[in-house]
Amino acid sequence: MSEILIRNARTVLTMDDAETELSEADILLRDGVIAGIGPRLETVGEIVDARHCVVTPGLVNTHHHLYQGLTKAVPGGQDALLFGWLQTLYPIWERFGPEEFYVSAQVGLAELALSGCTLSSDHLYLYPNGARLDDSIAAAEDLGVRFHATRGSMSIGVSKGGLPPDSLVEDEGAILEDCIRVIDAFHDPSEGAMVRVGVAPCSPFSVSRELMRDSAILARDKGVMMHTHLAENDEDVAYSLEKFGCRPGQYAEDLGWTGPDVWHAHCVKLDGQEIDLFAATRTGVAHCPCSNCRLGSGIAPVRAMLDAGVNVGLGVDGSASNDMASLIGEARQAMLLQRVQNGADAMSARAALRVATRGGAEVLGRHDCGQVAVGMRADLALWDVSGLESAGSWDPAALLLAGPQKVRHLFVEGRQVVRDRRIATIDIEAALTRHREMARTLAGLG
Ligand SMILES: [Zn+2]
Repeated sequence: MSEILIRNARTVLTMDDAETELSEADILLRDGVIAGIGPRLETVGEIVDARHCVVTPGLVNTHHHLYQGLTKAVPGGQDALLFGWLQTLYPIWERFGPEEFYVSAQVGLAELALSGCTLSSDHLYLYPNGARLDDSIAAAEDLGVRFHATRGSMSIGVSKGGLPPDSLVEDEGAILEDCIRVIDAFHDPSEGAMVRVGVAPCSPFSVSRELMRDSAILARDKGVMMHTHLAENDEDVAYSLEKFGCRPGQYAEDLGWTGPDVWHAHCVKLDGQEIDLFAATRTGVAHCPCSNCRLGSGIAPVRAMLDAGVNVGLGVDGSASNDMASLIGEARQAMLLQRVQNGADAMSARAALRVATRGGAEVLGRHDCGQVAVGMRADLALWDVSGLESAGSWDPAALLLAGPQKVRHLFVEGRQVVRDRRIATIDIEAALTRHREMARTLAGLG
């Protein structure tokens, strides 16, 4: 039996149905699960002093491309729109291999963990030079964060009217075969799973209609979730109207891409009908506000989605279209953007944090995560509010208005992944050194 007692937390934001907030509470973690919450609990294990900390459920990242961490702020793509940005980066990504995928996942997940993330999904849709989904899963397992890897794909290259170079696309039969391989090898459907696998064609403009449909059939046959990019910007909607003769929501519905086992990234351009469709079918959305700002895509109608009952979580998106992968920063950005669109009362600090925690867990089908409650998985972020970022705050639990950008401690499945603001599970300095060398080599500097 392994136990840790989080003692005397200043405030606990539980994210339960009643939006309960507790003061000066203890939280007992036992064997990966929250075993008790209340005053003066006892333990046989380690005690963590949380006197100065606000405790939240771990934040959940519902959209990322971890491999892009090696191509942050590439000069030719810094100020480009989505399609031009992709065309700048494809030739660089073509040179990646297994080690690039492992190290970028390791460093990217560590960056996320320091910003409060305990559960991340990843959308990996290109496999050059022998790289496999296995590489990023190994990195997550070594770091100790909960990981939903998705087997992405691209099958329509330039020669067939698509966007990616032909060298980065795969044969559709081989894609489906590899989906089956990774699901059989890694997907754990059980409660408390550390690894799950999903099926994720890159986007309607990089795979065929048949692959979208067959991927959905395969995912449902295997009982795994499905993910893709949808309605990201005006160009994306125009492509759908021109090539498919319908809006993205209709295209998704026609091919089986709606339901509680589906979540779509971005959805910046969903109209009212599409929002109603997503609400009625319990289709999830990964809202990526920084990426949408960075690429000038627009402001996703998140207030309208939440009001309609759509499940919404947050995503930092690939590091090449956000450049910073801070999930707490993403939550603040989500709060601010809804206020730009709808006014100062459109999204409170607590509401945005709820989207970042429980919202994301629900989008990923994790009803065992996302709340601080007895019986839930022991995934917790501890935010020390005694520092200068919180100084002067009359409400330190309003973390997104004034609060730290890094966690003091982070627990995943009851294991301490961040201790005193440092990664505790791997040699992060060695990983960073390797990451720096790789980025220099790719840039032609090393
Ligand atoms: Zn993306």
